[in-house]
Amino acid sequence: MSEALRFLAEELEKLKAQGLFRLPRVVQGRQRARAVIDGREVVNLSSNNYLGLATHPRLQEAARRAVESHGVGSGAVRTIAGTQDLHQTLEEVLARFKRTEAVLVYQSGFTANAGTVAAILAPGDVVVSDELNHASIIDGCRLSRATIKVYPHADMEGLRQKLEEARRDVREGGRTLVVTDGVFSMDGDIAPLPDVVRIAREFGAITMVDDAHASGVLGDHGRGSVDHWGLHGQVDIQVGTLSKAVGVLGGYVAGSRTLIEYLLQRARPILFSTSHPPAVTAACIEAIHLMEESDELIRRLWENTRLFQAELRARGFDTGRSQTPITPVIVGEETKAMALSDQLFQEGVFAQGIAYPTVPRGKARVRAIVTAEHSQADLEEAVAAFARVGKRLGIIG
Ligand code: PMP
Repeated sequence: MSEALRFLAEELEKLKAQGLFRLPRVVQGRQRARAVIDGREVVNLSSNNYLGLATHPRLQEAARRAVESHGVGSGAVRTIAGTQDLHQTLEEVLARFKRTEAVLVYQSGFTANAGTVAAILAPGDVVVSDELNHASIIDGCRLSRATIKVYPHADMEGLRQKLEEARRDVREGGRTLVVTDGVFSMDGDIAPLPDVVRIAREFGAITMVDDAHASGVLGDHGRGSVDHWGLHGQVDIQVGTLSKAVGVLGGYVAGSRTLIEYLLQRARPILFSTSHPPAVTAACIEAIHLMEESDELIRRLWENTRLFQAELRARGFDTGRSQTPITPVIVGEETKAMALSDQLFQEGVFAQGIAYPTVPRGKARVRAIVTAEHSQADLEEAVAAFARVGKRLGIIG
């Protein structure tokens, strides 16, 4: 390491001293509800593979076939020579699924959020954002160089107040964007979208929802939070991910044809970064077909969620304000949350410990994510381990 980079080692030492230095655990083989992680078979409560599609035979077969017919790479960025027939098909399938005019597929949910916000706002515009929005939205806001106003989490009076300020601060002829996650990734609560949309409209603001954790989870056949709330046609920009319930990789924006055509001219991840390889695109198409054909997996996901959360609460755990499969087990103290996660792993359960700065100080937790693939036995085993370790650490009585 050069002398110039010595500061990196110092930064790492600081993290280690605070107990915040982490290296990722390694999943050996398939990403499933029961997986081999760091050499140990565990109940996996850490993936966003909500429907178990990451290893679904139909998706795997679609990917294999696409390699045979299209090869392994897409060759270029979308607007040069990197839009393949498969990309077009995926966008048509997604637009039908989301009931919007058009869709644009990005390389990830992250680039979809960051690239879209940065493309539609300019300096002098205003973005009004929930304080718990995802990092990719925050980065998009910063990249846009618009004025950023953050409202307290899901606080509609706060939203209104920020919109009043925005009305004063926005440049002449400028735009205001209201953006919220549909489901919040650390607490699993659902944004009050009807109120957000109503208030945003009063101020003539653009509305955007990030449905990373709602796609495949909420709404008819997993169409997302706009469908869940019956708001079709009322949210300007819907972002979704293909990396979580859909089981593969990618993100997309669903909305009007004009919006999509504009993003194709201006969104920098589309203009300057290569598009998805065929296997990924084909597997995503198959996933959407599967979700349209049956909602059996979503029903199982919700049954599992209800069972798991009821059992945890019955044992005295605090699962916060979760309304979805994302289940925070709130501990409070950071070292205790990390100890819970570590000891759960020793007992055969993989659930991530999450501490400051990802969540506020004093709100450290273990986050457990239920999937459709977990069996009742997996979940009962996990709850029993939570109870044993929770008692040992004095988290429950
Ligand atoms: N939004 C939210 C709320 C997320 O939790 C995530 C993933 N952590 C993303 C966007 C980014 O999605 P992707 O993993 O597809 O980049």
